[in-house]
Amino acid sequence: MTDLTKLTAVEIAGLVASGETSAVEVTQAHLDRIGAVDDRVHAFLHVDTEGALAAARAVDERRAAGEELGPLAGVPVAVKDVLTTKGVPTTVGSKILEGWRPPYDSTIVERLRDAGTVMLGKTNMDEFAMGSSTEYSAYGPTRNPWDLERIPGGSGGGSAAALAAYEAPLSIGSDTGGSIRQPGAVTGTVGAKPTYGGTSRYGLVAFSSSLDTPGPCARTVLDAALLHQVIGGHDPRDSTSIPAQVPDVVAAARRGATGDLTGVKLGVVTEFTGEGAEPGVMAAFRDAAEALAKLGAEIVEVSCPNFKYALPAYYLIAPSECSSNLARFDGVRFGLRVGDDGNRSLEEVMSLTREAGFGPEVKRRIMLGTYALSSGYYDAYYGQAQKVRTLITRDFTSAFEQVDALISPTTPFVAFPIGSRTADPYQMYLADLFTIPTNLYGGPAISVPCGLSDGLPVGFQIMAPTMADDRMYRVAAALENAVGTLTPPAL
Ligand code: GLN
Repeated sequence: MTDLTKLTAVEIAGLVASGETSAVEVTQAHLDRIGAVDDRVHAFLHVDTEGALAAARAVDERRAAGEELGPLAGVPVAVKDVLTTKGVPTTVGSKILEGWRPPYDSTIVERLRDAGTVMLGKTNMDEFAMGSSTEYSAYGPTRNPWDLERIPGGSGGGSAAALAAYEAPLSIGSDTGGSIRQPGAVTGTVGAKPTYGGTSRYGLVAFSSSLDTPGPCARTVLDAALLHQVIGGHDPRDSTSIPAQVPDVVAAARRGATGDLTGVKLGVVTEFTGEGAEPGVMAAFRDAAEALAKLGAEIVEVSCPNFKYALPAYYLIAPSECSSNLARFDGVRFGLRVGDDGNRSLEEVMSLTREAGFGPEVKRRIMLGTYALSSGYYDAYYGQAQKVRTLITRDFTSAFEQVDALISPTTPFVAFPIGSRTADPYQMYLADLFTIPTNLYGGPAISVPCGLSDGLPVGFQIMAPTMADDRMYRVAAALENAVGTLTPPAL
């Protein structure tokens, strides 16, 4: 009998649509898999067994009634715990929201339900999406299915590990500085950060509002494109949502899979010299670039002189926005409340709640951001960082006058051992060296597996102009076709 958990989303949807299997069978197979492996992987913070089976039954009933089903109907999906789910716990990996059941669905989750996908549960993440390893989750780390002693990337490590452990064929992540692409890279899966504003932030618990971008994760490029199409597009409830249709990413992925890249010009960023990157990662990247050249792509070097300032600019802008966004967690409105014994002042209760509810990385960012925004320092830090952001955007604009897309490794290193980078925050921040420029610019980027280094997956990043998300899917699908998908060792 076919192992339903090993299939792609496209295959599952096909079997459900033809009646060869039911959405309930598919869902049960994934719930069983979660039951069998998640005590070792810890991809999930919450499994919604009853909700998933009910959603699956509804799909089967619609099919039995002769209704036409969407392209992902009956396909299970795991959702990063940063998105609100009505009546289903949403913690953002933090103690401060422990036990909170939101009264509403985020737009992404609403669209997933409308498309007939089956939400299995909520995945683990670094607290408030701050981190690159999922070790900063208040609920314990997630482990990489390739090697359980290593990190699955972050902040969306749960969403990526769920794919690599065959607990779900699709998942949702959010990318503020790399948190979809970096976990994708180190787990050998596909992760796409859409154009900022191309996917709705309504119901996405805010970290850095000008950067946060929800997006699709999958084991194949076509599956990611199908998921992107379902969740993307204008949302009047998000004021920064772009009032335009999602570029046809599915058609682009299908076109790319034909393996012809004639006429496509790709740029290797001169400043990404490989300094600070593992030689094995750079070698896998170069081999993959050669494979793209064999498919007809022209590869040139493009200089983006300001990219070297991206990391410091990001670590001022993101903490500044977080210090403001996280002010709402005050013990009054939702989640945890500490010290409310009738004798303490409001300020004391707020302070005790925030002291107990936030972990060290979140506190570090709030302090950094509060400092950077304080009068007297605003121009020197936040103001300067915003200027650098403009320069980085100009680098992208001028690069895209020369090439169709930029390419790079997704991360400087493969999955590192758990505990090896938590002592020095800067070592953790370096994981996003190649992913952060895109967030500051607002364009789309995708990570697709391109091979192994030391037996661990390496990700290949394709960065495209804003609203040209289709372009990156075309190149990604061509690469996937040329180098193949990666199969993790059996758990
Ligand atoms: N690792 C980066 C950070 O810690 C990016 C996180 C993200 O994309 N959510 O901020």
